[in-house]
This record gives sequence, structure tokens and C-alpha cells, in this order.
Amino acid sequence: MLISPELNAAMNAEIGRELQSSHQYLNMAAYFDDRALKLLAKLFFQQADEERDHAMKFIHYLTQVDGKVGVPALEAPKADFQTVEEAIRLARDWELDITGHINDLMNLAIEQKDHAAQDFLRWFVTEQVEEVKTMTDLLKIVTAVGERNVIMVEAYLVHNEGG
Ligand code: MG
Repeated sequence: MLISPELNAAMNAEIGRELQSSHQYLNMAAYFDDRALKLLAKLFFQQADEERDHAMKFIHYLTQVDGKVGVPALEAPKADFQTVEEAIRLARDWELDITGHINDLMNLAIEQKDHAAQDFLRWFVTEQVEEVKTMTDLLKIVTAVGERNVIMVEAYLVHNEGG
């Protein structure tokens, strides 16, 4: 076994958070679709897929180092939102929280001189910069246009397609 029980347990907890993100983004995507915000819904359905991929990366890593995979129980994600801004703000806060957990995992890997885990986690450190940026930008746009003109978010997403 090439991983400590402590780091193994912390990675299993992260698998839970990544899957929780995926489920939360599915509910948000459905809410945006219900508001006829098709591109925003599409973005969140894509994000949900990405979060599941993140969980899979941890699962594959644990199998690689002969660790023990234990997917934890998940809570029902929030399904009711009053405004688009409320949902996006929750996504932004959630990604900030995830970033903290990824940093904690990296700190543990460094403390334990687990170089393989540090290599593996590096990708997530970089990914979180992108995730937080995406949600922070979206929150700025949604806040700027306001709920009444929230359809303008779709124009922003068209404008941003491909980059
Ligand atoms: Mg993730």
C-alpha cells in the first residue's frame, strides 16, 4: 500500500464531495432549464459530468496505490432556488470550499512526504483555480444584470463559448 490510512480516508471524503458537487450541479442545471436558461443549464450539466470525472480520478488513484475505496453517503442536494443569483452564489461558495479541501489534501501529502499523491493532487490545485474563476465570473455577471434581466446571462455565455 503506497498511501497512508489518513490520506486514504481524506481522499474518500473528497470522492464524496466531488459526487456531491455533481449532484448539486444537476439540480442547478434543472432549475436553470426550468427558467428557460438553456446555455446556463448546459454549462451546469457539463459541470456535473466534470465533477463525476473528478471523483473517478480519486477512485482510480486509490486503486493504483492499493488504497481502499469507500464512497461515502451523500446528502440530498439543494433543489429549490429563489433566484439564479442564489444558485450561482452557492456554486461559487461551494467551489471555494472545495479548494480549501484540495489544499488540505495537498498539505497532508506534503507533510507525509507522499510525492506520488502530491503529483496527483497538483492537477486538482490547478483545476480549482479554473472552477472558482468560472463561478466568480458568472456571479459577477448575474449580479450585474439582475434577476429581471437574467436572460442576458445567455448572451454572456454565447459570447464566451470557446473560451
Ligand atoms: Mg471538482
